[in-house]
Amino acid sequence: MKTLNDINFKGKKAVIRVDFNVPLDEDFKVTDTNRIEAASATIKKILTDAGSVILMSHLGRPKGREEKYSLKHIVDTTSEILGVKVKFVEDSIGSEVEEAAKNLQPGEVLMLENLRFYKEEEAGDKDFAKKLASLGDVYVNDAFGTAHRAHASTTIIADYFPEDKVFGELLAKEIDSLDKVLKNSEKPVTAVLGGSKVSSKITVIENILDKVDHLIIGGGMTFTFIKAQGGKIGDSICEDDKQELALEILEKAKAKNVQVHLPVDVVAADAFKNDAKTQVVDVDKIPDGWQGLDAGPKSLENFKEVILKSKTILWNGPLGVFEMENFAKGTIELGNFIAEATEKGAFSLVGGGDSVAAVKQFGLEPKMSYVSTGGGAMLEMLEGKTLPGIAAIQNA
Ligand code: AMP
Repeated sequence: MKTLNDINFKGKKAVIRVDFNVPLDEDFKVTDTNRIEAASATIKKILTDAGSVILMSHLGRPKGREEKYSLKHIVDTTSEILGVKVKFVEDSIGSEVEEAAKNLQPGEVLMLENLRFYKEEEAGDKDFAKKLASLGDVYVNDAFGTAHRAHASTTIIADYFPEDKVFGELLAKEIDSLDKVLKNSEKPVTAVLGGSKVSSKITVIENILDKVDHLIIGGGMTFTFIKAQGGKIGDSICEDDKQELALEILEKAKAKNVQVHLPVDVVAADAFKNDAKTQVVDVDKIPDGWQGLDAGPKSLENFKEVILKSKTILWNGPLGVFEMENFAKGTIELGNFIAEATEKGAFSLVGGGDSVAAVKQFGLEPKMSYVSTGGGAMLEMLEGKTLPGIAAIQNA
């Protein structure tokens, strides 16, 4: 894996693809600076080497050139975070951009306009990528959130830097964390998969069955498994056409010696709302008119035991409808168990969707070994896919 440390940036111009797709309020002020902060280590390292930096990003989903999606709105925030006055050009390619890049001095930072103002970006247009590439000497990809897209600035551009292309610190950390879980993991390895549907997680489950010792299944997915095994699930969410698949997964897990842990009890509600009436019932005896919306206390005891003896933990998907306070307990408790295991030395990775939102919401983020920054990208990596943005740099 070629990283920043393999290059001395002195006197060089680095074109960096970052993910500055940050939320803005109605006055165009950045409301969450996480993504800019996450890329700052990479940028600062290059500046400290006496290199200069050209930042490229997308923002939102503009249809052509739309003022509200201009990256000019985030220039000041980026300057504050970097401690360097960031220069800005109102275009991504063209003579003005070329001039600004040419005049860039060591220690200086230039930000280009939203790449998605050009349809060529998402189309992966070679000519557009070549023009971006011509601005610098080295290509750095630090945008994990778009690494699963073969866009001009995330993938195609790398072709124009046969030698001089590297992973930024953030992207390197994402790859390294996943390797710690799926490749060089310390056993026992446990994956917790929750969320709403079997169908959206099936490829992940199939890919990780070869890599884990324990698989905890929770959330809405549970009920497809329970019904397939002949249980009564009341009005709980279920994908009837995936029952066969659920049984196949259980068979495969058995053949591979993976221990599967499903909830044994649930918090059932008489409606899908926070103030519904609730009762704790066995997972396979849910009365009609009731639906399981969170893991029950016995299930949590079982999960705790598994988590606390694990040395490597992957968590993807909530154990219940955590957006509603009364059904968030399972997800919070699970987060606490993983935090405890992590404190005792386990490696924990949270990634790929709603569990990231949950750990942030419940203040658990600092207690995990690593919380992924890319939803879709992490999910695809968990599915065993090679991401184009990563492959483009590895094929040096
Ligand atoms: P996913 O995007 O597949 O990770 O699913 C996350 C969503 O699953 C969250 O919005 C949860 O509210 C939802 N979810 C979790 N458990 C249940 C459940 N028992 N019934 C319905 N939805 C659930």
